[in-house]
Amino acid sequence: MMDLKGKKVLVVGLGKSGLAAALFLRRKGAQVTVSDLRSAEALAKDIPALLAEGIMVEAGGHGLLTFRRQDLIVVSPGVPLDTPELAQVRSFGIPIIGELELAARFLEGSMLAVTGSNGKTTTTALLGEILASAGIPTLVGGNIGVPVVELIEKSTADTWSVLEVSSFQLESTVEFHPRIAVILNITPDHLDRHGTFQNYVRAKERIFLAQTADDFAIVNADNLPAADAATRTIAQAFFFSNTHPVAQGAWVEAGNLVYRAAKDAPVETIMALAEIPLKGAHNVENVLAAVVAARLAGVPAPAIRTAIQAFRAVEHRLEYVATVNDVEFYNDSKATNVDATAKAIAAFPSGVHLILGGKDKGSPYTVLNQLLKERVRAVYTIGSAAAKIEAQLAGIVPIRSCQALQKAVSEATAAARPGDVVLLAPACSSFDQFDNYEQRGTVFKQLVNDLRGFKTWQPEKESTNG
Ligand code: ADP
Repeated sequence: MMDLKGKKVLVVGLGKSGLAAALFLRRKGAQVTVSDLRSAEALAKDIPALLAEGIMVEAGGHGLLTFRRQDLIVVSPGVPLDTPELAQVRSFGIPIIGELELAARFLEGSMLAVTGSNGKTTTTALLGEILASAGIPTLVGGNIGVPVVELIEKSTADTWSVLEVSSFQLESTVEFHPRIAVILNITPDHLDRHGTFQNYVRAKERIFLAQTADDFAIVNADNLPAADAATRTIAQAFFFSNTHPVAQGAWVEAGNLVYRAAKDAPVETIMALAEIPLKGAHNVENVLAAVVAARLAGVPAPAIRTAIQAFRAVEHRLEYVATVNDVEFYNDSKATNVDATAKAIAAFPSGVHLILGGKDKGSPYTVLNQLLKERVRAVYTIGSAAAKIEAQLAGIVPIRSCQALQKAVSEATAAARPGDVVLLAPACSSFDQFDNYEQRGTVFKQLVNDLRGFKTWQPEKESTNG
């Protein structure tokens, strides 16, 4: 544990975790400054609380001198590590870490960390439920919305902290040492930030970096970059697979999820595949990963089964919204990359009306071609990525250019036949038209609900007129 008393610490970026880190550092007696590129007006809601705690605030840009006079720099996950300011201080030898690394140095008990391109929140939330239901003192945090520093005070030697960790958070770890670490999958995402897929894979693999031979590294045997990462860790590698048995870990066999602790250990049946309450093969992968992690954390098989049966889809993750005139509507606003969109399409056999678009993230949409041909009746584009999507998917499926989500919902609804599905799984981030994916999903659900009101109202009006 590090002594922060009297240390000069700069927090770069005043997001949710930056704010929490600044307040934590101050409580530990550090002299804290926060620096953010956004204007004082944009930060207005947080500034008074910081000043009241004696934290200095630099808004509207970073002064180079601010960065020089520090003992430690804590960067927020949203801040790239290669900004000119950070490059300079690095050359002066000032340590640069993220909020995850800072928190992990103070957190008591054991850490179970989950990363991956997709499925982190679902799997982290599920594991939190499984461990807690087995009577283990459990804390859940990280990228899922609760900064890890906020878990510190509640943690004890018996606690398991289940942490969702992103590639941005892993980029700035040093000693971060989970007892159990999971890589769910690595598929192209965030190339706008990491530059190359290789860099992105390297960031994800850092989850295993400080593990020892006593720790556990769990990877998806069906995802090459994830499986490959297991060959480079000294932790004990466990696997999960939706397609074939694995040496040690979990897989699907004769309609059941099964687990074995070692190659020569007996195979335990955890539960039937049909008992999983979540839609889609990707969620089977998430559940398999959770089974392995929970078994390694000491949860008995029956408790795992009960907790999984009680679990429901996290909001905006392939979330069922409503059925209007025999057309089902699903909100997968969190499908902000092409792989998540592919998994969402694959969850439906046919008849999909797919809303795609938003802010492009640099990955090709053409990987969707086969699924589009097989299962999708039409694509409805929205947002600034529309032209790129339309160019790449031309000739594959009918495409309607809708610009706005409202138009996409109404056109898809008008075209859908009974038994079809209208799916928002946009493969893009939301920032061109919305505050975030949550808002996009909420607007979609509202539009669907309005539609329902309209459709039920219309026949009544006709009948009173007639
Ligand atoms: P993350 O926290 O990694 O973004 P979420 O659980 O929030 O993961 O899910 C993000 C998106 O990815 C959603 O659209 C969800 O339906 C989809 N998804 C969930 N699990 C997987 C998986 N294992 N593989 C691919 N896509 C997934």
